Amino acid sequence: MTSSNTVALVTGASRGIGAAIARALAAAGADVAFTYQHDEVAAKAVAAEIEASGRRALPIKADSADAAQVVAAVERTARELGGLDVLVNNAGIFPAKPYAEFTLDEIDRALNIHARAAFVAGQAALPYLGDGGRIISIGTNLSDRALFGGLSLYNLSKSALNGFTKALARELGPRGITVNLVQPGPTDTDMNPADSEHAATQREFNALGRFGAAADVADLVAFLAGPSGRSITGAILTVDGGTNA
Ligand code: NDP
Repeated sequence: MTSSNTVALVTGASRGIGAAIARALAAAGADVAFTYQHDEVAAKAVAAEIEASGRRALPIKADSADAAQVVAAVERTARELGGLDVLVNNAGIFPAKPYAEFTLDEIDRALNIHARAAFVAGQAALPYLGDGGRIISIGTNLSDRALFGGLSLYNLSKSALNGFTKALARELGPRGITVNLVQPGPTDTDMNPADSEHAATQREFNALGRFGAAADVADLVAFLAGPSGRSITGAILTVDGGTNA
């Protein structure tokens, strides 16, 4: 971590990759606030794990589709945990279906959760992020290589993070803040279970022949958030077991 009282906020961390990131940041010494949308029971369980590791936890119910709720989550984190050093934009959905079938509401929701939420969360975090601050977003390996059909909206909304990350890294570099994008490949979560009917095809693409685990992604995020990540910024780092190789 960047200091002895690091505070992190992870969006969408009641389950899956976000929960693994929250645990990894706590294990590295951060107090961790995190958002969720529906699952309060799961959020409380993640908070209890973080507290058992000796760090403070702050679960916040906030829908990333609503910019006001995202901003309020950032401000509550800084108020209740005494600052903010690491922002991880992780909350996401997987709206996959034929291009012709998407409605305007679905397009807006995906863009708001994946792109606008990251944009406004970073803006709200700026007053608190000092030298050594970190903004890390979770994209997808599919932005670089669309491996199957149905991805038009997912990729539209996720690939916005690629250009955003580089632009923000350039702008915030002089303040000592790093900005990076981590792109998971197929990772065993509720969104993409390793035993689903689609998993076999995804495993075939994987150079290592395995299905990713949430901890694979979380370990990289913790590295970027810590002192060893100090010179990595504007980077797009893919953790996909060689799926895109
Ligand atoms: P899961 O569906 O397993 O978990 C999603 C998490 O995000 C849950 O904690 C959920 O909260 C929360 N969430 C969902 N929508 C919102 C919202 N509108 N506002 C706030 N929180 C929300 O997903 P994963 O862990 O698999 O995915 C995490 C990120 O990784 C996503 O951005 C995804 O696109 C990306 N990713 C995942 C891959 C995979 O194979 N799993 C591959 C590439 C990228 P709640 O429990 O309350 O619903």
